[in-house]
Amino acid sequence: METRAHQSQMPSERLRLKSSRLLISGQGASELRSCLQALPWNQEGTRLQGARADIRTPAAAASAVAAPTSKSTVDIDWDNIGFGIRDTDYMYVATCQLGTEEWRGSLRPFGNMTMSPSAAVLNYGQGVFEGLKASRTADGRILLFRPEENAARMTYGAGRMSMPAPPKDLFLDAVKQTVLANEAWIPPYGKGSLYIRPLLIGTGAVLGLAPAPEFTFLVFVSPVGSYFKTGQMSPLDLYVEEVFKRASPGGSGGVKTISNYAPVLMTQLNAKKQGFADVIYLDAVENKYVEEVSSCNIFVVKGKTIVTPELKGTILPGITRKSVMELARSKGFDVSEERVSIEDLLAGDEVFCTGTAVVISAVGSVTYQGKKREYHTGQPGPVAQDLYKTLTDLQTGRSPDTLGWTIQLS
Ligand SMILES: *Cc1c(COP(=O)(O)O)cnc(C)c1O
Repeated sequence: METRAHQSQMPSERLRLKSSRLLISGQGASELRSCLQALPWNQEGTRLQGARADIRTPAAAASAVAAPTSKSTVDIDWDNIGFGIRDTDYMYVATCQLGTEEWRGSLRPFGNMTMSPSAAVLNYGQGVFEGLKASRTADGRILLFRPEENAARMTYGAGRMSMPAPPKDLFLDAVKQTVLANEAWIPPYGKGSLYIRPLLIGTGAVLGLAPAPEFTFLVFVSPVGSYFKTGQMSPLDLYVEEVFKRASPGGSGGVKTISNYAPVLMTQLNAKKQGFADVIYLDAVENKYVEEVSSCNIFVVKGKTIVTPELKGTILPGITRKSVMELARSKGFDVSEERVSIEDLLAGDEVFCTGTAVVISAVGSVTYQGKKREYHTGQPGPVAQDLYKTLTDLQTGRSPDTLGWTIQLS
């Protein structure tokens, strides 16, 4: 169990500005009703565990915003953080009415939100999410990795899901503000990173199938370590799913819509029950070409060539995928995006997965039609290891960012 105590300091100027904007915007009442409720804080500023209460007036919410500070001290066992969700201090929330393109937002204390039972996101799954990370460098700086790419992908996904997207600058500003307000939750250098979750959802009420009349964009964060229980460096055992599909041509597999993820839980849980870390999906038409894993992209290495399935609308265009392709090319590999058959995958020298959450994870075995193909038994393959090092060196500032992929905060 983690505990933490907030030092009794005045809020930073930045936060004070934010909270005063909340007060004078005149949006307090409707914003609050439509999205969020602030968490209660006791006199000492310590979160009341298990005693969440909704605050329903703008005045009460504003005082809750002003009370805590961004400099809370956290007491976490940084060596065992895993990939769970933890409540942090602040989140960013903005709303937009359909047809206006006008976003109003601010930082708020992290907490529950309320919305109509008829909200579009609850009934019809109108929502897209993003995932990126902030990392600490050895000398204490904070780096974001390619956040503009996430902003662009959210805009693309919002279009597919008939939602207005927050402008790029608002997206970036929201991410930066949320990370800085939760600075105490960024794991120390080498212990993990702060996972950042931007979310865009239809919070307005609908009954007939239609876009929501109101949308909410929020950003929350959680400190994370390794995605897979077995740790970053132990290769994954994957299962090739032949019956269920993640995506189909013309569908929404190529965007990060929330509605793509509940359907893969069943196959994933089933695979986990049998001792596999995750599932490889095949194409919906021929049941023969590799697509991706539930939440990460896949690569096959053969000699000096590296292939990854081409983007044809059924595969999520991963930012790690795109970055890894560039890094591998700079290392002299012949990298291509093409159709990758399951036979190609089984014939490869090495297989690995990429994603913000999993970073680069080596695949130890692939089980297809009852046969298990093992790669580099027990060890991560050399190409995955080398790319992992190059990528994480960039992300944590160990190597100079000659590509302009990182943004330094503070
Ligand atoms: C998010 C995601 C990825 C990885 O994308 P990154 O930008 O590298 O984090 C891959 N596949 C799916 C299905 C995803 O949702």
